[in-house]
Amino acid sequence: MKSPVRIAIVGAGPGGLMCARVLQGHGIDVTVYDADASVEARDAGGTLDLHADTGQIAMEDAGLFEEFMKLARLEGQAKSRLDQHGTVLDAFVPDQDDTAAPEIDRGQLRAMLAEHVRPGTVHWGHKLVTATPLGDGGHRLEFGNGVTAEVGLVIGADGAWSRVRPLLSDATPDYTGVSFLDVRFEDVETRHPQIAKLVGNGHLFANDGDGRAIIGQRNSNGHIRAYLALRTDLDWHGKAGVDLGDAGAVRRFLLKEFSGWAEEMLPFLTDVDGGYLNRPIYALPAPLTWAHTPGATLLGDAAHLMAPFGGYGVNLAMLDGAELAHAIAEEATLDEAITRYEAVMLPRSGQHAVAANGGLDSFFASGDFGSADFPDHEAEHQRYREAAAAYRRGQSRATAVDGTWTVSFRTPRGRQQAELRLAATAGSLTGAFDGTPIQDGQVDGTEIGFVATLTSPFKMKVTFTVSVEGDTMTGTAKAPMMTIPITGTRQTA
Ligand SMILES: Cc1cc2nc3c(=O)[nH]c(=O)nc-3n(C[C@H](O)[C@H](O)[C@H](O)COP(=O)(O)OP(=O)(O)OC[C@H]3O[C@@H](n4cnc5c(N)ncnc54)[C@H](O)[C@@H]3O)c2cc1C
Repeated sequence: MKSPVRIAIVGAGPGGLMCARVLQGHGIDVTVYDADASVEARDAGGTLDLHADTGQIAMEDAGLFEEFMKLARLEGQAKSRLDQHGTVLDAFVPDQDDTAAPEIDRGQLRAMLAEHVRPGTVHWGHKLVTATPLGDGGHRLEFGNGVTAEVGLVIGADGAWSRVRPLLSDATPDYTGVSFLDVRFEDVETRHPQIAKLVGNGHLFANDGDGRAIIGQRNSNGHIRAYLALRTDLDWHGKAGVDLGDAGAVRRFLLKEFSGWAEEMLPFLTDVDGGYLNRPIYALPAPLTWAHTPGATLLGDAAHLMAPFGGYGVNLAMLDGAELAHAIAEEATLDEAITRYEAVMLPRSGQHAVAANGGLDSFFASGDFGSADFPDHEAEHQRYREAAAAYRRGQSRATAVDGTWTVSFRTPRGRQQAELRLAATAGSLTGAFDGTPIQDGQVDGTEIGFVATLTSPFKMKVTFTVSVEGDTMTGTAKAPMMTIPITGTRQTA
């Protein structure tokens, strides 16, 4: 970025903190605002798996991969599928050195990221109430504690109920038709041995094929988290006359709801430590897109809240954060940075969101299910590894074309020159030709293609097909009436 602007990230979740960390790694100042009073002010939730092709890439880019691996639980990748009778239908035990998707406690992840931004970066206790455009691409932020800030770029990393999102989109999350009751079990080996045995080192997914499920997850330090899941109305408790604060009433309701389930599964419903936290599952319409909005963008759940099936939510949030930070550092203007970031983020998250929301629907569908319905975790891990390698290949190819180029071509009016700025990420190419953003950018190795809009001698679209070798490029520019050869030289920084 050529001229510094004031950057605010709203939300110190995994996505916002990752973005701040990578920006600071590029020497760019940023302030993060979060509604929580401190990093440990609230129970951050259960466990998350960081995939090799997304979350782990972000960790590497942030220089935090070693820190992650110190906390990661490789054995936590184990998964078993049961029916309501407690019969094990499928089980996956990862190899000892399988690092495709290790688990980390959500609280540990957030605390580790918060420790690795500069002291004072996060302003805790700042709940954004409104973000108002100032007309020049800047925004005025107003917080619940009376603080205000005027910024050149606001990044909405403020989760499902983002207060930044209305700047870009009218979309709001919809209830998926599934609610989780989030419950905890402490000191499980001694106090909850039956639950510890059923969950094992990783995850248990038990489903009755009729809209009820128990999902158990091993966390660190003898802690197990479970989601008692129901396909039900949003106001299931109101309709059933259950006071959510009355643990006895919730327990009685659950025992009735799960009445056909095996005795050995019932401690998940009855022996909880603490209460039952109702978590209705919401998702944004998918795929979601918006028109480019100067001075504002979104990442993570704020951009693409999806059902937690497929486990991509936090992984995409962190990759979004890292990629947005790189784009801000590398592009000449904020507009180009946001355009480059959103050109990759929106289609990628749209695809994952459609799959995740479909995954939730099929998991809670009524009917018999068999082994063909279960994910092949071995193959899934192989896909993460292959996609990670492809992403890295894309990154190294991308740098082969990145930069500012002087392009020369001969026209009927003589030899002309133009400035071409290019930035490639895996599979996508953005930039500007003589200051006007290019369109339909594609990159395949060192072969690139894009469409530029020329305004002189008259307005026309020109399609460029170019091959890059080192710091030179050669190719053609196809205008409506003719095709001409072009050459280019990369300018030194
Ligand atoms: C039950 C459940 C299980 C899940 N399991 C998985 C899983 O296994 N794997 C996975 O990848 N994902 C999972 N997810 C999704 C994952 O938790 C999210 O995708 C991820 O946390 C998104 O990160 P984020 O940084 O975008 O947002 P968040 O983690 O939601 O962080 C948003 C931050 O913004 C702050 N904030 C919110 N509003 C404001 C405001 N107005 N002003 C200032 N600050 C604000 C919040 O305090 C918070 O710190 C699960 C989600 C649920 C509900």
